Amino acid sequence: MKSHSKQIFDALQYNRWGWVVIPLHYPLLNGKCSCSKPDCPSPGKHPLAKWKSVNGDLLPEYRVQTGEDIKRWWSEHPNANLGIITGQISGIVVVDIDGKEGEHSIRDKELPSTPTVVTGRGRHLYFKAPDFETKNSVCILPQVDIRGDGGLVVAPPSIHVSGDVYKWVEGTKDLPLADLPPWLRQLLKPKEKQKDTISQPATGIITEGNRNDYLTSIAGSMNRRGMSLEAIVAGLQEENRSKCFPPLSESEVRDIAKSVSRYPSEAPYEIHKKEHETDVSSFLRPGGVSERVELVSVGNLFLKGFYSVLAGQPGGGKSLLMLKLCDDLARGGIILNGYARSDPMRTLFIEGDYPKNMMDWRIQRMKLSVPFPAVQFVYKDEFLSDGLALDLSSAKGYSNILELARMSKPDLLILDSLASLQFKDENDNSAMKTVCLSLSRLAKETGSAVVAVHHLKKVKRSERTLPISLDDLIGASMISRLASSAYGVQVKEDEDGQLHIVKNLKSWVNPPGTFTFRTKNTVSEEEELELLLDVTPFPEESNSTGKVRIINTIRAGHSQEPFKRSIIARETGISDTYSKQVFQDFIGRGILRQIGHGKATMYELVQ
Ligand SMILES: [Zn+2]
Repeated sequence: MKSHSKQIFDALQYNRWGWVVIPLHYPLLNGKCSCSKPDCPSPGKHPLAKWKSVNGDLLPEYRVQTGEDIKRWWSEHPNANLGIITGQISGIVVVDIDGKEGEHSIRDKELPSTPTVVTGRGRHLYFKAPDFETKNSVCILPQVDIRGDGGLVVAPPSIHVSGDVYKWVEGTKDLPLADLPPWLRQLLKPKEKQKDTISQPATGIITEGNRNDYLTSIAGSMNRRGMSLEAIVAGLQEENRSKCFPPLSESEVRDIAKSVSRYPSEAPYEIHKKEHETDVSSFLRPGGVSERVELVSVGNLFLKGFYSVLAGQPGGGKSLLMLKLCDDLARGGIILNGYARSDPMRTLFIEGDYPKNMMDWRIQRMKLSVPFPAVQFVYKDEFLSDGLALDLSSAKGYSNILELARMSKPDLLILDSLASLQFKDENDNSAMKTVCLSLSRLAKETGSAVVAVHHLKKVKRSERTLPISLDDLIGASMISRLASSAYGVQVKEDEDGQLHIVKNLKSWVNPPGTFTFRTKNTVSEEEELELLLDVTPFPEESNSTGKVRIINTIRAGHSQEPFKRSIIARETGISDTYSKQVFQDFIGRGILRQIGHGKATMYELVQ
C-alpha cells in the first residue's frame, strides 16, 4: 500500500469535513520561503499557485476539489504547507491571536471550547461561520485578526518559517465547531452600508466652483472600480451634461478623467519597482552554465517566454494566419501545411479590433474548428461594455491581461492588435518602451510566446512588391528592437486570389526564412464566399524554384547589359538574403560574373 505524507493524510481529512484546502509555499532549510523571493512578505504562508480570479473569487480548480486533486498537489510538492480557505466556502471563521499582546487583548473575553491550533507564536480558534459575510479583517483587537471570506489560514501539519509546527491543541481537534461568542458576533456583523460620500447639494445641481471637484470625485471612484479611461470619460460626460450647470466643455471633462486615471495607471514595469526593498547583490550571478538551456518555440515561429511582432498591411491576412496557426496547434502534429511540426499547444487569442460575431464569421469561412479549451478568446469590446480596462499601457489593463493568461495558461498568447490594446503614442520611443517592456514582462510572467499583431506603414500600390524590412513597421523602432522575432506579411494579388508572403525580418535564434500562404474567394454551391488558407513553406529556400526564377528573370530581361542584384530581387520578389546566396552560387558556377565592388557592384550573364 502506498503511504501518504502527513500533509495528504490531514488534507484528505479536512476535505471530508467540508473544508477547502490549498497547497502553500513552505520554508526551505535556509529559512527562506520556497517562492524564492528574497523579500517574501509571508514566508511559507501563501499559496503555491494563483488561487483567485480577477474579481477575487477562488479559482474553480480549488472550489471543486477531490481526493485525487489533493493527492496530486502534494505528490507534486511533497513539502508544501497546508492551507484552509476560510469563510462561507468551508463554513469556518478563524480567530488568529498573535503572541502575548493578542492574548492580552482577549484576556477578559468569553471564548467557548472549539478546535484550536497552536502556531508557535499564537493560537488559531476555529468557529462555525455565521450567517453573514465575515470579511478577512486585521486587528479587530490589538494582535487579533479574523480569517473569513476571501482569506485562508495555515493549518497543521504545516511548518512555520521559525521551524515551529502548526499543531492541534490536545483534545480540541475533534470538538464540534463552536458558534462565535456574542461579543465577537457583534464586532463582525456588518454595519448599515454607508452612502457614497460624494458631496452633492440638495438641489442635485452642481454649480460653478464645484463642478471640477464633483467630477474629479466621481472619476476617482470609477477609477478605483477598475474602469478604463474610455469608460470614465463616457460616465463623466453623462454626469456633466445631466448635473453640472453650466456644463464643463468636453475637453475639460476629458482632462479630469485623464488626471484621475493617471494614478495608478502607469505601466506596470514602473510601479512594481521596489528599489528601497531590494538587495541588489541577490541579482549577482556566477558565470558558467550548469544545465542544458532549452528555448521552446511555438510552431518554429515564436519563442516561449519572449514577445514577437507580426506586422502587415490591414487586410494582409495576419489575423487569418494566426487563426490557422492556433487551430493547427490545438491538435499538434503537422502545422501550417507542413511549415513545422509541433506538440499540441494552447492559445489565448485576445482580440482588440473585432467583436465575437465577426471573428466567428471568419472562423467559419476558413472552416476552422478552434477547439475549446485549447483555443480561448477574449474580446475587448466585451470588456469595454463592462467598463473594464484591457490594455498594456495601464496597470489595471495589464493586470487584467496577465490574470486572463494565468487562467488560460496558453503556450501562445496573441494580442490582436497592438494598436487596439495600448493607448500610448505609437511613434514615441520612450512611451513605446514601457509598452514593450510590458510585453516582455507578460511573456516572462506567463512563459507564453506573446505575439503582438502590428501594422506596416502604408505604401503606394506600385511599391507593394518591394521586399519589406524592419523599417516598414509602423511607429517607434522600439517595438521591433525589443522583440525576439518579427515577421512581415505582404500581399500580392493574382488570378488565383491573394498570395501572402510571410517574411522573417528578425530573429534571435532562427535563420531568417520566408513562406507564403494563399487566400481565395471561391464561390461554392451555396454561392457563399470561401476563404482558403494554403501554406507553402519556404518556396525559395526549400527547393530550386527561387534559383530558377532568378535565372529566368535575368535571361528574359537582362542578358544584354550589366544589372544590379537589387533589381533582380525586386522583380522576382525574392529576399535580399536569399538572392545574395543565389548570386554567390551562380558566380561560383560561372553563370554570372561580378563587375566592381561595394555599392556600385553590377553583374552580367556569362554567355
Ligand atoms: Zn514566499
